[in-house]
This record gives sequence, C-alpha cells and structure tokens, in this order.
Amino acid sequence: MSSGRSVDVLVVGGGILGLCTAWAAAVTARRSVALLERVKIGHAMGSSTGDARMRVLAAYPDDSYVARGIAAGEDWLRAEQAYGRPLLQTTGCLSWGDGQQDLLTGLLRHDLPHDIWAQPDVDRAYPGVSLPPGIAAIHQPDGAIIHADRALTAFAGQASNRDVAIHEGVAATAMRPWLRGGRGGQLLGGSR
Ligand SMILES: Cc1cc2nc3c(=O)[nH]c(=O)nc-3n(C[C@H](O)[C@H](O)[C@H](O)COP(=O)(O)OP(=O)(O)OC[C@H]3O[C@@H](n4cnc5c(N)ncnc54)[C@H](O)[C@@H]3O)c2cc1C
Repeated sequence: MSSGRSVDVLVVGGGILGLCTAWAAAVTARRSVALLERVKIGHAMGSSTGDARMRVLAAYPDDSYVARGIAAGEDWLRAEQAYGRPLLQTTGCLSWGDGQQDLLTGLLRHDLPHDIWAQPDVDRAYPGVSLPPGIAAIHQPDGAIIHADRALTAFAGQASNRDVAIHEGVAATAMRPWLRGGRGGQLLGGSR
C-alpha cells in the first residue's frame, strides 16, 4: 500500500470476519480503519460466499462456543436492522450421532430451547430422514440459515458507510512489530 495514510486499525482480509471487525472497530471503538483484500470483496475463493451457512447455538462440545453464539445473536439483529433486510432465516436444526450428550449439556446449562426427538417426531418435520436404530435426535428450533452472500454484502456496505477504507486487490505480505517502542506495527510489501 502506498497511500501513506495512517489509520488506527488495519484489517487484513475482506471476508465476513474481516468486514465485521472493520465495521465494529469503526462503529463501536470509533477508530479510523482500513481493510486490505487481496482479491475482491465477494470473490469465490474465500470461505464467506455462497447462499447458506448454518447458525446453531449448540454445534460443538466447547461450551464457550454456545456462550459466544448467544452473544452474537444480538449482533446479528443489529446487523439486520442496519441492513434493512433479513440475514438469517430460522429453520430449526436437527442433530444426532456422536457428541450429542455434550450438546445437550450445553443446551441445559444455558437454558436454550430444544426437544429430544424420536423417529416419529423426525418423520413429521423431516420426512425421509432416518435415525440409526435406538438413537434420538436433538432439535434446536432456533437453528437458522445465514444468507452468506447477503451478509457479506451487508457488512461491506456497513463498513463503507462508516468510512472504512476498503482496498481491493491489495495483499499484505508481511507484518512486523513497531520498532520504535510505541504501539502498533508496520505492514510490509502491499501489492496490487
Ligand atoms: C464450505 C464451507 C461451509 C461452511 N459452513 C459453515 C456453517 O454452516 N456455519 C458456520 O458458522 N461456518 C461455516 N463455515 C465457516 C465460515 O464460512 C467461515 O468461518 C467464515 O466464512 C470465515 O470468514 P473469514 O472472513 O475468516 O474468511 P474468508 O471469508 O476466507 O476471508 C478471508 C479473506 O482474506 C483475504 N486474504 C487472505 N490473505 C490475505 C492477505 N495476505 N492480504 C489481503 N487479503 C488476504 C482472502 O482473499 C479472503 O477474501 C463454512 C466454510 C466453508 C468453506
């Protein structure tokens, strides 16, 4: 990067996490922010594109994941309000198999809505899905689809609206700590 402009926060990568970080830094922390994206926002080689991602609160045994997922719910609402269109679509989520006891423990600990479904319950809501014999499933009614492409567009728009300077086609190739004792660092070798 050769603009020579100084910013408080430099975000590397314009996927959904980078754009959210840049937006949050600009809005919540009131920092001046620039973001570097080596290709183009929305390019197909990143992880954040496509029409659907799952959002389900108990998906992994790690309990801190559930707590962070609950906290993120408010952020998703704020993002939808700012964008003016839904980014999530509640569908419910069904899971079964290994690790279900850990998920159940997390759901109970955080008092989250869920049901234990046997095959007849599954048949009513998900015809064609067969559980292994003797296995029950966990249904989380607030499981949702994230409209990934739309969310990426929303966050890119919100970041731009908050004066985040988005530089596409610029790759960060190295970073090093600031050598003169202060906070911060230097970004090396930006290329276009
Ligand atoms: C097929 C698939 C299914 C998934 N399903 C789910 C799901 O159901 N639920 C869920 O929660 N998560 C899911 N995930 C994970 C989720 O999509 C990712 O965690 C999320 O999109 C990551 O966002 P990100 O911004 O960190 O990364 P990315 O979207 O990959 O963005 C990183 C960006 O950084 C840019 N970049 C990289 N290096 C540099 C550099 N040196 N300089 C400048 N720019 C750079 C890249 O070009 C890229 O645009 C899935 C992922 C995949 C691939």
